[in-house]
Amino acid sequence: MDFELEQSKDLQAFRKEVREWIEANLPPPISTRDRRKETLQDFKNAREFHRKLGAKGWRVPWAPKEYGGLGLSIEKTLIIDEELDKVEDTIASLDDNGPGVILPPILTYGTEEQKQTWARGIIEGRQIWWQGLTEPEAGSDLASAQTRAVPDGNDWLISGNKIFQGSGYEQDMYYVLAISHPDRPRHHNFSVFCFSLHLPGVSWSPMRLIATDRNSVYMDNVRVPSSAILGQPGQGWQVTQAQLEVEHGYGGAVRPDRVVPKVLDFMREGPKKGGPIAGDAVLRDRYVDNFIGSRVGVLFQLRNLSQRLNKQFGSYEGSQNILHDKVYGVQQAARNLEITGLYGLMDDEHEAPSYGDIEAHQRGSIVFTHPAGTIEVHKVIMARRIGMSATRERAAATV
Ligand SMILES: Cc1cc2nc3c(=O)[nH]c(=O)nc-3n(C[C@H](O)[C@H](O)[C@H](O)COP(=O)(O)OP(=O)(O)OC[C@H]3O[C@@H](n4cnc5c(N)ncnc54)[C@H](O)[C@@H]3O)c2cc1C
Repeated sequence: MDFELEQSKDLQAFRKEVREWIEANLPPPISTRDRRKETLQDFKNAREFHRKLGAKGWRVPWAPKEYGGLGLSIEKTLIIDEELDKVEDTIASLDDNGPGVILPPILTYGTEEQKQTWARGIIEGRQIWWQGLTEPEAGSDLASAQTRAVPDGNDWLISGNKIFQGSGYEQDMYYVLAISHPDRPRHHNFSVFCFSLHLPGVSWSPMRLIATDRNSVYMDNVRVPSSAILGQPGQGWQVTQAQLEVEHGYGGAVRPDRVVPKVLDFMREGPKKGGPIAGDAVLRDRYVDNFIGSRVGVLFQLRNLSQRLNKQFGSYEGSQNILHDKVYGVQQAARNLEITGLYGLMDDEHEAPSYGDIEAHQRGSIVFTHPAGTIEVHKVIMARRIGMSATRERAAATV
């Protein structure tokens, strides 16, 4: 079965245009291959590149034209994704939750004015957003969130503590789930508020995780106008489901696994380039398992993106996709270690194979079983949606 995009003349010409544009606009490569050491200048270069990408309409190419996108087809969206993926190793990360997870609820529930300011800001690459859901007592059980929004005239005063929040050198906007209607039952008591992260009363301190940095954010009577509410007051749970549906794997970007080819390079070159180990039957077997796992992941991503852009309502597919990535990621790390031995634990970007990317994957594979819902949570969601659970659940409306 051939899953490659159909190479019509039009698509071939489009790929060439994208490739040439990226080549002409790509910032200087990051000063370090160790993601933990990216500099402010690396970040600023990446930010500028995203602004250019946004101005071109290619940051969220499928997004509607009236908000700064181009309404491009799935084929063209995929081509842009594929070409950007090829240069991702050379660009710093913005850690921006905007295009992937905040945009869908804004497009689904926002007023025209909110779409023109917030959605456009994301699509054009002018705003970096943090996503404020998780709290010290509310991770998997998000409905236990305690952040409060208290009405004060035409304004609201927001107080609370969110954890595992974004990182990076610069940030602009915050998307916060808060209890606005404490007398209403669970799930009907929330609103979503969007506001500047630089308002008085907002502060944060670093959380250093083994794989990445996050922040703990504190809100102390942060004053926001009623126009900061996304959706209706009290509709926050529903609004957030529009976001989680996509965050849970229902049709985001299509990103082939980046470590699998690097491990193949290691096998071909051998430790310290001292001769191939690819002939070892056991290691080859481990590698093939990883190769298959990564291809299955891409097929789930392709199916989900296609369903989403063709407006076919998803069900269990998002969780199936992300569950595969998480479970496979942990298995993959164990197999990589079998293949590379201690070389897979070297993190010196000058000495380690693939600049330490295999080691970074070792650290990340465990941590990344948590964000966007844990393995157990996704099993629960799938069980509910395929009718294996006493509780039945349907997918939330989203774009
Ligand atoms: C790198 C990273 C980035 C993140 N980014 C963000 C972000 O940008 N914004 C944000 O708001 N949050 C973010 N998070 C938080 C993330 O969403 C939470 O970590 C996640 O929801 C899990 O919550 P928790 O860590 O509190 O684990 P807990 O909910 O305390 O779970 C602990 C363990 O218990 C299991 N468990 C919990 N409930 C059940 C159950 N009912 N049945 C079976 N098992 C269960 C879980 O699966 C898990 O293994 C991020 C986390 C990480 C690690």
